[in-house]
Amino acid sequence: MMKAFVYRGPGKKALEQRPKPEITAPTDAIVKIVKTTICGTDLHILKGDVPTCQPGRILGHEGVGIVDKVGPAVTAFKPGDRALISCVSACGKCVYCRKQMYSHCTTGGWILGNKIDGTQAEFVRTPYADTSLYPIPEGADEEALVMLSDILPTGFECGVLNGKVQPGSTVAIVGSGPVGLAALLTAQFFSPAEIIMIDLDDNRLEIAKRFGATTSVNSADGKAAETVMKMTGKRGVDTAIEAVGIPATFELCEKIVAPGGTIANIGVHGQKVALHLERLWDRNISITTRLVDTVTISMLFKTVGSHKIDPKLLITHRFKLDRILDAYETFGHATKTKALKVIIEA
Ligand SMILES: [Zn+2]
Ligand SMILES: [Zn+2]
Repeated sequence: MMKAFVYRGPGKKALEQRPKPEITAPTDAIVKIVKTTICGTDLHILKGDVPTCQPGRILGHEGVGIVDKVGPAVTAFKPGDRALISCVSACGKCVYCRKQMYSHCTTGGWILGNKIDGTQAEFVRTPYADTSLYPIPEGADEEALVMLSDILPTGFECGVLNGKVQPGSTVAIVGSGPVGLAALLTAQFFSPAEIIMIDLDDNRLEIAKRFGATTSVNSADGKAAETVMKMTGKRGVDTAIEAVGIPATFELCEKIVAPGGTIANIGVHGQKVALHLERLWDRNISITTRLVDTVTISMLFKTVGSHKIDPKLLITHRFKLDRILDAYETFGHATKTKALKVIIEA
């Protein structure tokens, strides 16, 4: 048996004893979790917003661990290897995987802690281990690497790459939560001239300044669009990254995008949003959407190893797996607790 954090239906959660997972397909591995974390998406699941995730599911889609067992078809990993678990499982063979669109893998994608049991437990079964786990180099900082399972590739792929951040360009990031901050850290690979961070929480804006934002705007007064237009000489921004997932923040991006610019959506939207084509039809803009494919994990590994970025800055709290309910309380009340990412040690 093992300890596991289980979704029990809207508003209900529990730390339970569950049977240790077994290999069910030849391409599976069983990984002993060393460190995991909680994602904003887990909070959506607990509210009942994610219908694919049924009660009884062990949550969690991020983490690092030690390979415990492998199926007979796994060749890249063996028991005892340390591995990073991608939030997206990829068969490597289907039409989407062949296009590096792992998020839409026909038999994988984001299934961990959603359609199959996840990483907030002592052990996890990872499907397609060869193409969904990443070997951890000797001496690597494993806490920092937990940030590479999901939020760093999400901020980078959906925000920075899709947003076409360029040297000398002006970027606005709406939402200074963990994913917005991940976009902020990785946008700096491309040396934009200005990164304007927009949020309602002064503490998070202060953190953004430390992470390299050139300016911050508190949007509580409802005038963020006017402020950004004033800051940019009425031009607007080349890249507007949406990292919240509500209509107001997407519409803010529509107001501040400059002619020729890109709105890169990251946020998970549960409601329809107004598309203001009456204002945008002639402005040569692009709007992109994406679910993280985690195709940049290997690249991000190198930037962490060479200290180009330090994702450990995102970690504010640490808990043992026994206290995961407290970890959820802390993460779920981030304004009060000032939590960004919480590390859970199994
Ligand atoms: Zn996530
Ligand atoms: Zn596939």
